[in-house]
Amino acid sequence: MSSTANTTYTTFTGWVDPPTDIRPPLTENFTCSVAVIGGGLAGMATALRLAERGVDTVLLESDFCGHGAGSRNAGQLASAPGGDIQLLNLLYRKGMPAIIRLTENAAGHVESMIEKLGIDCDYEAVGNVFAAVSRGQLGRTRRIAKILRRAGAHVEEGTARELGIPHGFLGGMREIKGGIMNPGKLLRGLRSAVLASTVRVFEQSKVVDIVRGNGGVTVETPGGVILAQKVVLATNAYAGEWDITPKRLSSPMWVTEVETEPISPQRLAALGWTSRSGLITQHNIMENYRLTARNTIVFGVRQIERAASYPLPERHPDPAVVADLAKAFARRFPPLADVAIDRTWGGWIGITSTWLPVAGTVGDDVYYSLACNGHGLAQATYVGTLIADRIATGITPDDLRTIWVDEPKFGHAVPMIMGRLGLRAAWTADRFNDMINGSKRHAREGFATAAGGFTAPA
Ligand SMILES: Cc1cc2nc3c(=O)[nH]c(=O)nc-3n(C[C@H](O)[C@H](O)[C@H](O)COP(=O)(O)OP(=O)(O)OC[C@H]3O[C@@H](n4cnc5c(N)ncnc54)[C@H](O)[C@@H]3O)c2cc1C
Repeated sequence: MSSTANTTYTTFTGWVDPPTDIRPPLTENFTCSVAVIGGGLAGMATALRLAERGVDTVLLESDFCGHGAGSRNAGQLASAPGGDIQLLNLLYRKGMPAIIRLTENAAGHVESMIEKLGIDCDYEAVGNVFAAVSRGQLGRTRRIAKILRRAGAHVEEGTARELGIPHGFLGGMREIKGGIMNPGKLLRGLRSAVLASTVRVFEQSKVVDIVRGNGGVTVETPGGVILAQKVVLATNAYAGEWDITPKRLSSPMWVTEVETEPISPQRLAALGWTSRSGLITQHNIMENYRLTARNTIVFGVRQIERAASYPLPERHPDPAVVADLAKAFARRFPPLADVAIDRTWGGWIGITSTWLPVAGTVGDDVYYSLACNGHGLAQATYVGTLIADRIATGITPDDLRTIWVDEPKFGHAVPMIMGRLGLRAAWTADRFNDMINGSKRHAREGFATAAGGFTAPA
């Protein structure tokens, strides 16, 4: 197992340091057209688009813009939907082409935004691979590829060699659109663009209450109150902290990422990871792996921890989860088993029962965009922009209509498997399957080696 003895734990992210020019909090009362709450991907994208359209906009952020999951994620810009795509297809077979259009447009939107704003975030348009570590997972990627292709998605299948992914994987399916980046740098660039715009930004301004009525929506912070004609709730996992947010839309979950120490270019080259595509395994609870511009590998998830209650605590990863991830790394990348884990961080994400992000309104003046099921790097940004377009023009863009919820009717925020016991059972099933597949592999490799010939991967 890779060493975690000297791993640095942080309550922010390993990608970048916090900004040194944090804006002062709100200390007065005033009015505005639109108040956007939460300076993450969704909130900053919404505010920036509103400003571009000439709308008088205020952005309120509890810490600093980029403090949330936006700067903490794995940096894998996905172009397929999140969650269980086979289940999604069962629930929304007819709607799949519209869902794929939304998710692929979302990835394209972020790529254009990076270019338009000139953000240096080490973006590489190399796609992401649903990578199989067993024959069972390979079968699953084939079924998913069929569903996605039928819905119009741009995907390709292949062996590990054909996809240019490490020898430790069997093969899988690549989402051709999208890629990998340093998300901390993306959020830093987006923050600079928002600060340079006409948006009035107040950081260190936690919104504690939102009340409709009296000719607008009143947004309360400890230092001041804003009366807005419209409000956009863009605090993702944190949205459940207010009474106004519709209940049971999503559930907050904590997920963890880790980063290795720098690895020599020669050792990285020996992995056969020629495509540099990000990887997502097909376990019940996925593992993700990706190369970085600083010659490290960032990887994570494998275990998901459900929040006990609101408010969500500021926390760092659980050492037991970090050790479990280190074990996984040594298993997937045997030649790098001696590489140490340099740092770790995590963050809160929102998970829905439908595996789709949610957007809608409370009345006609409070909008929300939340819960991108671990795919918000593309989707939260795009949905935020579409909400701004709807507010500015009164027209709902087609891609927003795909996920729009007029009256939320979800029975449960998340499926049973996302309960504490369900998550443990999913993890145990994944480890059991890994064990079985490991034994089969050894048997195959032993036989092949004894026969003096071919050695199968994985
Ligand atoms: C470890 C990890 C790995 C992930 N990996 C990926 C990945 O590889 N690809 C991908 O697409 N997605 C990934 N995600 C998910 C993705 O990061 C999220 O879906 C996305 O950041 C959601 O964006 P957001 O703007 O809605 O929320 P956030 O980025 O969380 O922003 C919410 C903001 O609201 C602020 N806020 C909260 N409460 C208040 C309040 N009361 N008042 C004012 N402000 C408030 C917070 O400080 C924060 O800045 C990952 C997430 C995590 C945590």
